Amino acid sequence: MTVKFSRRAALTAAAALPLAATARSVSASTSAEMAKAPASHSRSFKLGDFTVTTLLDGSRPVENPKPIFGGGASDAEFAATSAQNFIPADVAQFFFTPTLVDTGQEKILFDTGLGQGGIQMALAEVGLTPQDIDVVLLTHMHPDHIGGMTTEGAETFSKARYLTGRQEFDFWGAQGEGNRIGDLMAKKVTPFAEKLSFLEDGGSVASGISAVASFGHTPGHMGYMLDSGGQQLMLTADLANHYVWSFAHPDWEVKFDMDKSAATTSRRKVLDMLASTRTPMIGYHMPFPAAGYVETRGSGFRFVPVSYQMMG
Ligand SMILES: [Zn+2]
Repeated sequence: MTVKFSRRAALTAAAALPLAATARSVSASTSAEMAKAPASHSRSFKLGDFTVTTLLDGSRPVENPKPIFGGGASDAEFAATSAQNFIPADVAQFFFTPTLVDTGQEKILFDTGLGQGGIQMALAEVGLTPQDIDVVLLTHMHPDHIGGMTTEGAETFSKARYLTGRQEFDFWGAQGEGNRIGDLMAKKVTPFAEKLSFLEDGGSVASGISAVASFGHTPGHMGYMLDSGGQQLMLTADLANHYVWSFAHPDWEVKFDMDKSAATTSRRKVLDMLASTRTPMIGYHMPFPAAGYVETRGSGFRFVPVSYQMMG
């Protein structure tokens, strides 16, 4: 069994090599950073009839994370929480992880990555190309989520239709020229408007997949609840941006959250629900493979990374 597994993994890796080389050349400037990323860029889980695959688009270290994730905390508090959780306080490893849900009927990709070729490389590991994707869903319009919509100016997922939250699209669409994210959406998303449809809170993406409003990170940011064969898993997107700091202290302000207080309220509400129902989650910026569970700890929470659950 073990032998079969590793041989298959080796064959898959070998098959992906030519594409991986291509993808690397697209992002030559990030190759040094990518060298520190995990060797595997995909991980699949079974959830009822669904196959859920996390796809590592990129990973890089970022120095001085306290002003990003520790708004409102003292340096001493930030250092103490970091030490308690066995991570340094002066550097954070960032991860960017879109998720593919194969329902058996459709292949639905949640978010598209930075647009530097990583998503193509990760898809190749599971034997897919961007043309195999039926639906692309955008959880929100931040650059690390919509960047992969185009590659060198061309539509990346050219056979797909697109879905996103109406509130999110309307908000960024109303920004004047010169707004960084509004401008990027106009370049990456709006050109494909005829293939785009919109979701409200509770809206259905497909049978067993529904939108869960978690506004605050952006005005229309939404997570997605998967439900198949009596099993549930939530794609939380950017609800909590760091697996230690944002869980242990959901009230610490995160630089990337547009409405800090709404983001904190959403974070507490959803994490509390996931902890009390013991529902697994996949978070876009969690350490790869980005999946885990949530437990309540003190006045906050703890992210419990997945090990060998949901393997079969
Ligand atoms: Zn993000």
